[in-house]
Amino acid sequence: MSSPWNEELLERFYPKRYNAYGPYLKRRLGAKVFKVVVDAGFTCPNRDGTKGWGGCAYCNVDSFTPRENRKTSLSVREQVLAGIERARQNYGAEKFIVYFQPNTNTYAPVEQLEGIYSEAIEAAPGAVLGLTIGTRPDCIDREKLEMLKRRFGDLYVSIEYGLESMRDDVLEAINRGATHAEFVDAVRRTAEFGFEVCAHTIFGLPGEDEGDWLRVADELNRLPVRFVKLHHLHVVRGSILAKRYRDEPFELFSLEAYASFLERFLARLSPDIVVQRLFGLADQEDLIAPNWGLKKTLIQRELERSLVANGVVQGMSSDVAVR
Ligand code: SF4
Repeated sequence: MSSPWNEELLERFYPKRYNAYGPYLKRRLGAKVFKVVVDAGFTCPNRDGTKGWGGCAYCNVDSFTPRENRKTSLSVREQVLAGIERARQNYGAEKFIVYFQPNTNTYAPVEQLEGIYSEAIEAAPGAVLGLTIGTRPDCIDREKLEMLKRRFGDLYVSIEYGLESMRDDVLEAINRGATHAEFVDAVRRTAEFGFEVCAHTIFGLPGEDEGDWLRVADELNRLPVRFVKLHHLHVVRGSILAKRYRDEPFELFSLEAYASFLERFLARLSPDIVVQRLFGLADQEDLIAPNWGLKKTLIQRELERSLVANGVVQGMSSDVAVR
């Protein structure tokens, strides 16, 4: 940790050891911003037969969403207002991003999408600063990107795509219904429109090893990706993997092993990529394994503690180039 390069990074990210999302958003939008999760009632082409049946093997759509946001009968506007009210009361929040999270949030005709996103923005003018849209790489096209640019180009818009694995054989084994080339293509096309792209990753899928996961850092470094969400694989109830795991348990990360892997991954990740999440955690009711027996805040603290204890800072590997 003695090189000037590492000290510069430490100073840049202080007090964290990585390029964290909260401080980035504050710099970017000039305020502390909270995400309000909305379920607009989309479905998924990997569940309804258009691309596949049953969904990605690790997916139980409900497990992605906090319980209070699930299976709501509220309109988009009502959900935004209720989420804002909760965040105001609990955190004193004033500015918000509406996060279209469950299912595939660009899976509808473009006119319908424009109406849904507009309803979210117009629910609280001035308080809602933008949108984050979670979707699949094969559910975005030029027409949708043009609409987003024309209608919301002056707001903050981020689009999230699942990378999950760079290996097409693994993507096929988990029934992803999309290839890595489709992910790369969607990322490039989205960035060309000036939107900030977030890549969602999963480490620990059966058939992969650490070499595969570390190569994800190299891939993200070379792509126009602004954000990454890092996830260890967890097996949730109602997913295809849950059945596979029950029939034939496979190895999953312990907290110690994941902390250790994360150190190597972050050291290799470009310091310009903003890390939205270090890990994912399903609700206890949904989670089968691995169960680390700790609350989210304690896991976060443990992962950050391990970065400090072992002198790791994002991008410290000498061969990582700053973009
Ligand atoms: S992970 Fe996303 S794309 Fe895959 S089945 Fe679930 S909602 Fe659909």
